[in-house]
Amino acid sequence: MSTLPRFNAHIAGEWVEPASGQYFETVNPWTSKAWAEVARCGALEVDRAVEAAWKAFTTGPWPALNATQRGAMVHKLGDLLRDHARELAEYEVRDNGKLINEMLAQCNYLPNWYWYYGGLADKIEGAVIPIDKPEVLNYTRHEPLGVIACITPWNSPLLLLSFKLAPALAAGNTVVIKPSEFTSTSTLKLMELIAEAGIPPGVVNVVTGFGNEVGSALVEHPRVAKVCFTGGTESGARVYQAAAAGLKGCTLELGGKSPNIVFDDADLDDAVKGAISGIFAATGQTCIAGSRLLVQDSIYDAFVDRLVAFARTARMGDPMDPGTQVGPVTTPPQYAKVLEYIAIAKAEGATCLLGGGPAEGAACGESKLFVQPTIFGDVTNDMRIAQEEVFGPVLSILRFKTEEEAIAIANDIAFGLAAGVWTQSIKRVIKVSNAIRAGTIWVNTYRAVSYLSPFGGYKKSGLGRENGLEGMREFLQTKSVWISTAADVPNPFVLR
Ligand code: NDP
Repeated sequence: MSTLPRFNAHIAGEWVEPASGQYFETVNPWTSKAWAEVARCGALEVDRAVEAAWKAFTTGPWPALNATQRGAMVHKLGDLLRDHARELAEYEVRDNGKLINEMLAQCNYLPNWYWYYGGLADKIEGAVIPIDKPEVLNYTRHEPLGVIACITPWNSPLLLLSFKLAPALAAGNTVVIKPSEFTSTSTLKLMELIAEAGIPPGVVNVVTGFGNEVGSALVEHPRVAKVCFTGGTESGARVYQAAAAGLKGCTLELGGKSPNIVFDDADLDDAVKGAISGIFAATGQTCIAGSRLLVQDSIYDAFVDRLVAFARTARMGDPMDPGTQVGPVTTPPQYAKVLEYIAIAKAEGATCLLGGGPAEGAACGESKLFVQPTIFGDVTNDMRIAQEEVFGPVLSILRFKTEEEAIAIANDIAFGLAAGVWTQSIKRVIKVSNAIRAGTIWVNTYRAVSYLSPFGGYKKSGLGRENGLEGMREFLQTKSVWISTAADVPNPFVLR
């Protein structure tokens, strides 16, 4: 019998043991040891969770609340998140091995989603339409969709969940969450705060387990109205197909291979920091990683020398140590994938300028998941290392001569999540940021997100938008109401 702490699913306001009786271990990437056990749910728990969410949506106290009351609960959840930020950040670090500095910054910022969308709940107004028919009142209402499935990945569990959960609740929906099998615990801890905020049982439910068991059962459940997914492009395509079969809405936030473009008129000190934050922050495990660095020919050698020198100083170590700059990769499959891409880059003829293999030694403790911060130069855009998402601390540097060439290389890829542009020229800022086909463009900065600004991908990086007003609209549908004020119904055989 295991002595590890156990985490059960959360359905209809109760902690629920899996019918199978099975649990799986969640492993701390820093110690490479299991630290907790999580319920291995299946279709049975999914059915219970979706039915609980459906009941809460249709007959529970949730639809009886007015938007102001609902918004106040969502706002209160923000207050509770603020008070529990460190505790939640520590759960995340134990599960995904990302830096405490990064996860704490994220958790401290999370309340904003709940405060913003909580405040927005009672500001969603319909319209009275100046209709072109006599003796009719026509108006619109923006109504919730129903049960929302939120499927989240392991890299930033609560942040990426909050992009979905806060607007979904504020709009009046109910939710079933499926966190990544690698990072379930912070989401389960959140359920305690949801109850404390007064959000009624069944409004938010969590089923834990594996994507191909519990995730697919959730997407396919007939009572689910919409699926909000963040994860890899391949899984996203499978989720999209399954959702389409049930004619469900879908938002997909998928992979990226974002160009970070350094022009010769850039402030090079800033651009070096921007390149580093684009790829080595979060150990490169972020969909918005600036993993394709495009550097103008005239400054290429000098810039790359500075970049490599800076990257060489990156301190690996215990992610819980605030002084650590690069932590382990989160999962063994991801570790294998990163090393495989390093081998591919070498075989393709890219020049390895830094790193290029597993990291070992005292800085890595007992972890078996460290990869050296790795930089490849002389990468050309036809190489796999320039085109495919690695999701690790591996940077590809490409050379360009002109603005037109930089734009062409930036756009010559299947992804379109984000891009960086480093230049002092305002004309260039506008021309290049207009020309790049990506959902987010950062100019002289990198890796900034906010609850206020829409986020999402072009091309294979996804569908729909999260955050800001657009993020709220994703969880509403519009109803048009026609009220006749005529004395009687005219000719019934003619369209009015
Ligand atoms: P996945 O896309 O496989 O997982 C994301 C979430 O989807 C997890 O909760 C997963 O469950 C679930 N899932 C997987 N398959 C299905 C399915 N068929 N139906 C419903 N849910 C499903 O990401 P991985 O964690 O496996 O990482 C693979 C790659 O994805 C990474 O190498 C990286 O390139 C990319 N990625 C992108 C992210 C982003 O932010 N855009 C985040 C994470 C990964 P479970 O984990 O239990 O299998």
